[in-house]
Amino acid sequence: MSDLRAPVTAYVAIGANLGDASTAVLCAINDLAELPQTDLVAQSSQYQTAPSASSGPDYINAVVEMSTRLTAQELLLALQQIEFEAGRDRPYPNAPRTLDLDILLYGEARIESTHLSIPHPRMFERAFVLVPLAEIAPALVTSEQLEAVAAQAITRLADGSGS
Ligand code: AMP
Repeated sequence: MSDLRAPVTAYVAIGANLGDASTAVLCAINDLAELPQTDLVAQSSQYQTAPSASSGPDYINAVVEMSTRLTAQELLLALQQIEFEAGRDRPYPNAPRTLDLDILLYGEARIESTHLSIPHPRMFERAFVLVPLAEIAPALVTSEQLEAVAAQAITRLADGSGS
Protein backbone atom coordinates (compact mmCIF):
# COMPACT_ATOMS: atom_id res chain seq x y z
CA MET A 1 0.00 0.00 0.00
CA SER A 2 1.29 3.41 -0.93
CA ASP A 3 1.03 4.84 2.60
CA LEU A 4 3.66 2.36 3.78
CA ARG A 5 6.31 3.67 1.39
CA ALA A 6 9.17 5.69 2.74
CA PRO A 7 9.05 9.38 1.83
CA VAL A 8 11.14 10.45 -1.15
CA THR A 9 12.64 13.89 -1.73
CA ALA A 10 11.45 15.23 -5.06
CA TYR A 11 12.11 18.49 -6.86
CA VAL A 12 9.47 20.05 -9.11
CA ALA A 13 9.98 22.94 -11.53
CA ILE A 14 7.13 25.42 -11.98
CA GLY A 15 6.73 27.74 -14.96
CA ALA A 16 3.99 30.05 -16.17
CA ASN A 17 3.86 32.74 -18.85
CA LEU A 18 0.23 33.58 -19.48
CA GLY A 19 -2.12 35.83 -17.51
CA ASP A 20 -0.97 36.58 -13.98
CA ALA A 21 1.99 34.22 -14.09
CA SER A 22 3.31 35.13 -10.65
CA THR A 23 -0.03 34.32 -9.04
CA ALA A 24 -0.25 31.10 -11.08
CA VAL A 25 3.12 30.03 -9.64
CA LEU A 26 2.05 30.84 -6.07
CA CYS A 27 -1.24 28.96 -6.55
CA ALA A 28 0.67 25.98 -7.93
CA ILE A 29 2.93 25.95 -4.86
CA ASN A 30 -0.15 25.97 -2.63
CA ASP A 31 -1.64 23.11 -4.64
CA LEU A 32 1.62 21.13 -4.39
CA ALA A 33 1.69 21.68 -0.63
CA GLU A 34 -1.79 20.19 -0.36
CA LEU A 35 -1.07 16.99 -2.29
CA PRO A 36 -1.82 13.85 -0.30
CA GLN A 37 1.09 12.10 1.43
CA THR A 38 3.28 15.06 0.57
CA ASP A 39 5.00 17.86 2.49
CA LEU A 40 6.40 21.00 0.93
CA VAL A 41 9.96 21.30 2.26
CA ALA A 42 11.33 24.37 0.47
CA GLN A 43 10.43 26.81 -2.25
CA SER A 44 12.73 29.01 -4.27
CA SER A 45 12.31 32.66 -5.09
CA GLN A 46 10.38 33.49 -8.21
CA TYR A 47 12.52 34.19 -11.28
CA GLN A 48 11.70 35.91 -14.57
CA THR A 49 13.11 34.46 -17.78
CA ALA A 50 12.64 34.96 -21.50
CA PRO A 51 10.79 32.09 -23.24
CA SER A 52 13.13 29.34 -24.46
CA ALA A 53 11.80 26.87 -27.04
CA SER A 54 8.48 28.60 -26.49
CA SER A 55 6.83 31.93 -27.20
CA GLY A 56 4.80 34.68 -25.60
CA PRO A 57 5.56 36.83 -22.56
CA ASP A 58 8.42 36.20 -20.14
CA TYR A 59 8.09 33.22 -17.83
CA ILE A 60 7.89 33.20 -14.08
CA ASN A 61 9.75 30.16 -12.73
CA ALA A 62 10.38 28.54 -9.38
CA VAL A 63 11.47 25.18 -7.99
CA VAL A 64 10.11 23.41 -4.90
CA GLU A 65 11.43 20.58 -2.78
CA MET A 66 8.84 18.07 -1.60
CA SER A 67 8.87 15.04 0.61
CA THR A 68 6.33 12.63 -0.80
CA ARG A 69 5.09 9.08 -0.44
CA LEU A 70 3.48 9.28 -3.87
CA THR A 71 5.21 7.21 -6.53
CA ALA A 72 6.83 9.14 -9.37
CA GLN A 73 3.94 8.13 -11.62
CA GLU A 74 1.36 9.22 -9.03
CA LEU A 75 3.21 12.52 -8.64
CA LEU A 76 3.20 13.05 -12.42
CA LEU A 77 -0.57 12.46 -12.55
CA ALA A 78 -1.06 14.88 -9.64
CA LEU A 79 1.02 17.54 -11.43
CA GLN A 80 -0.97 17.07 -14.62
CA GLN A 81 -4.20 17.50 -12.66
CA ILE A 82 -2.91 20.75 -11.16
CA GLU A 83 -1.88 21.93 -14.65
CA PHE A 84 -5.30 20.99 -15.99
CA GLU A 85 -7.09 22.83 -13.21
CA ALA A 86 -4.95 25.90 -13.91
CA GLY A 87 -6.54 25.98 -17.35
CA ARG A 88 -3.70 24.70 -19.38
CA ASP A 89 -4.40 23.52 -22.88
CA ARG A 90 -1.86 22.21 -25.36
CA PRO A 91 -2.79 23.54 -28.81
CA TYR A 92 0.70 22.75 -30.14
CA PRO A 93 4.08 21.62 -28.73
CA ASN A 94 5.82 24.20 -26.54
CA ALA A 95 2.84 26.56 -26.74
CA PRO A 96 2.73 29.32 -24.11
CA ARG A 97 1.18 27.82 -21.01
CA THR A 98 -0.78 28.89 -18.01
CA LEU A 99 1.21 26.47 -15.91
CA ASP A 100 3.93 23.91 -16.54
CA LEU A 101 5.04 21.47 -13.84
CA ASP A 102 8.00 19.12 -14.34
CA ILE A 103 9.49 16.55 -12.02
CA LEU A 104 13.22 17.28 -11.99
CA LEU A 105 14.42 14.67 -9.51
CA TYR A 106 12.69 11.92 -7.54
CA GLY A 107 15.09 10.70 -4.90
CA GLU A 108 17.89 8.81 -6.61
CA ALA A 109 15.52 7.36 -9.21
CA ARG A 110 16.46 7.08 -12.84
CA ILE A 111 13.30 6.53 -14.87
CA GLU A 112 12.97 6.26 -18.63
CA SER A 113 9.43 5.35 -19.61
CA THR A 114 6.94 6.51 -22.21
CA HIS A 115 5.48 9.14 -19.89
CA LEU A 116 8.31 9.92 -17.55
CA SER A 117 12.00 10.76 -17.77
CA ILE A 118 13.79 11.38 -14.48
CA PRO A 119 16.13 13.16 -13.97
CA HIS A 120 14.36 15.55 -16.30
CA PRO A 121 16.37 15.30 -19.53
CA ARG A 122 16.69 19.04 -20.15
CA MET A 123 17.14 20.31 -16.60
CA PHE A 124 20.89 20.90 -16.95
CA GLU A 125 20.41 23.01 -20.10
CA ARG A 126 18.14 25.53 -18.41
CA ALA A 127 19.05 28.45 -16.19
CA PHE A 128 15.38 28.74 -15.19
CA VAL A 129 15.67 25.31 -13.59
CA LEU A 130 19.26 25.28 -12.32
CA VAL A 131 19.31 28.73 -10.71
CA PRO A 132 16.21 28.21 -8.51
CA LEU A 133 17.25 24.62 -7.81
CA ALA A 134 20.68 25.82 -6.67
CA GLU A 135 18.99 28.35 -4.38
CA ILE A 136 17.15 25.67 -2.37
CA ALA A 137 19.49 22.69 -2.91
CA PRO A 138 22.99 24.03 -3.58
CA ALA A 139 24.58 20.60 -3.18
CA LEU A 140 22.67 19.34 -6.23
CA VAL A 141 24.06 21.88 -8.71
CA THR A 142 27.74 22.37 -9.46
CA SER A 143 29.35 25.69 -10.31
CA GLU A 144 30.27 24.18 -13.70
CA GLN A 145 26.60 23.43 -14.39
CA LEU A 146 25.63 26.99 -13.46
CA GLU A 147 28.46 28.34 -15.58
CA ALA A 148 27.15 26.37 -18.57
CA VAL A 149 23.82 28.28 -18.48
CA ALA A 150 25.24 31.64 -17.40
CA ALA A 151 24.49 33.22 -20.78
CA GLN A 152 20.75 32.75 -20.25
CA ALA A 153 19.18 35.87 -18.75
CA ILE A 154 17.34 35.25 -15.49
CA THR A 155 16.14 37.78 -12.92
CA ARG A 156 15.32 36.95 -9.31
CA LEU A 157 12.02 38.56 -8.31
CA ALA A 158 10.62 37.60 -4.92
CA ASP A 159 11.80 35.31 -2.19
CA GLY A 160 10.33 31.90 -1.50
CA SER A 161 7.50 33.31 0.59
CA GLY A 162 6.30 35.24 -2.44
CA SER A 163 7.15 38.62 -0.96
P1 AMP B 1 5.41 19.46 -21.14
O1 AMP B 1 4.48 19.83 -22.24
O2 AMP B 1 6.79 20.00 -21.29
O3 AMP B 1 4.84 19.71 -19.77
O4 AMP B 1 5.58 17.89 -21.23
C1 AMP B 1 4.58 17.08 -20.72
C2 AMP B 1 4.89 15.64 -21.08
O5 AMP B 1 6.19 15.30 -20.65
C3 AMP B 1 3.91 14.73 -20.41
O6 AMP B 1 3.29 13.96 -21.39
C4 AMP B 1 4.76 13.86 -19.48
O7 AMP B 1 4.32 12.53 -19.54
C5 AMP B 1 6.14 14.02 -20.07
N1 AMP B 1 7.24 13.92 -19.10
C6 AMP B 1 8.34 13.16 -19.24
N2 AMP B 1 9.17 13.29 -18.20
C7 AMP B 1 8.58 14.19 -17.36
C8 AMP B 1 8.96 14.75 -16.10
N3 AMP B 1 10.12 14.40 -15.49
N4 AMP B 1 8.12 15.64 -15.53
C9 AMP B 1 6.96 16.00 -16.14
N5 AMP B 1 6.55 15.52 -17.33
C10 AMP B 1 7.34 14.61 -17.94
